[in-house]
Amino acid sequence: MSAAGRGSLFSGPIEGLVFAIVMAAAAFLGRENPRFAYPEVLYGFAGLLAFNLLNFALLPRFLGEKKRTALAVSADILFLTLVLSWSGGAQSYFWVLLLLPVFNGCLVFGPRGVVAVTAAALAPLLSFHAAAAPGWHWGGALEPLIKAAIVAASAAVVVRVAGRERQARRRLEEERRRADSDRASARERLQRMDRLATLGTLSAGIAHELKTPLAAIIGYAQVAADGALPPAETERIFGRIAAAAHRCDGTIQNMLALARQKTGARRPCDVNALVRECAALAQHDWVHDRIGLEEDYAADLPPAVVSGPELQQVVFNLLANARQAIRGAGRGEGRVRLSTRREDDGIAVTVADDGPGVPPDIAERIWEPFFTTKPEGEGTGLGLAICRRIVELHGGTLSLAPGGPGAAFVIRLPAGDGAARSDGATSS
Ligand code: ADP
Repeated sequence: MSAAGRGSLFSGPIEGLVFAIVMAAAAFLGRENPRFAYPEVLYGFAGLLAFNLLNFALLPRFLGEKKRTALAVSADILFLTLVLSWSGGAQSYFWVLLLLPVFNGCLVFGPRGVVAVTAAALAPLLSFHAAAAPGWHWGGALEPLIKAAIVAASAAVVVRVAGRERQARRRLEEERRRADSDRASARERLQRMDRLATLGTLSAGIAHELKTPLAAIIGYAQVAADGALPPAETERIFGRIAAAAHRCDGTIQNMLALARQKTGARRPCDVNALVRECAALAQHDWVHDRIGLEEDYAADLPPAVVSGPELQQVVFNLLANARQAIRGAGRGEGRVRLSTRREDDGIAVTVADDGPGVPPDIAERIWEPFFTTKPEGEGTGLGLAICRRIVELHGGTLSLAPGGPGAAFVIRLPAGDGAARSDGATSS
């Protein structure tokens, strides 16, 4: 009966309650029928079912499972004792019903609980027999002893079965925990390997970027050290050493830019004005290229709290990439479109070109530091990685718009002081 309350018999307490009411109603309607011997038992069962359902549906907030089971088992034993006494005490065949609370108790309780439930179930049985046959004699003791042995044996069997089931469940739980921890450590190992791989790529890239100018510096320094060169040549060599050293410095500055945790000082800026300056400078640089620059700035752009020079660095970089892509395509001419627009929660700046575009198979890789498709000496592969880092530090995103033709890179920034709020740091 308590199992019914736990939901094994009914899908929910409401259905259980309806069942209890129907049972009570059937008993009430059949109370006058002479062939219906025990309507009171049905009333009692309906009441017990309702109690157990309420116990298991309402009490979980206040009592643990063991306490609720103890309540249900006690109610079962009490009710069955009443049924036994009312239906004939020691002579009642209903004594078998006492096995029910014993079964239920054995499923949930430990050894002490099982002994208590078995003793509680045996107590009314034995006391009915003691009341029915006062005085001790072997003949009279045989029946209660057999009943007691049946109850105890049933308890032992159920305890064993329940114990095995509990053990299997524990083993399953242990295996699940072990699998979870294996999965977690495998994930950690993978992450470590990923970090090591990134470190390896970065180290190889840095080494590559520094090796060429350093070799040049060493070579030129040796030539200059001979001292046999005319002054004009020596001056030219020192100029080359300085240029190579600047290249090394550039690489180191780029690495520092990648590793930065904060942006430069930020203030509310007119993004259109910043972008327009970049366009003017780019057009100045591109006078000898046949590249048309189209500008389209949204009039209703809200101010954004950004580091102006850093945002311009990103736009310059994207414009330089667009120019290189158009040149690389070999058509000798092309168009770049620089535009701004207002978006739901921010500002978008787009640099689009009609060059060859980014092949889909490298669309993810272009963001990796040192990934470049440009010839040696033309590309470091750091531009986009640094640009993305700068934009992300401003609380925005930098992405490659899907589709073509050409390539369109979109900088998205939060409007107002959203960028300042995004990491709480407004200056370095
Ligand atoms: P770099 O310019 O030194 O190669 P970047 O990180 O700026 O480094 O760019 C990485 C790669 O992304 C480039 O080598 C190129 O293959 C690709 N890329 C960047 N911008 C464009 C563009 N506008 N059109 C086509 N490909 C581009």
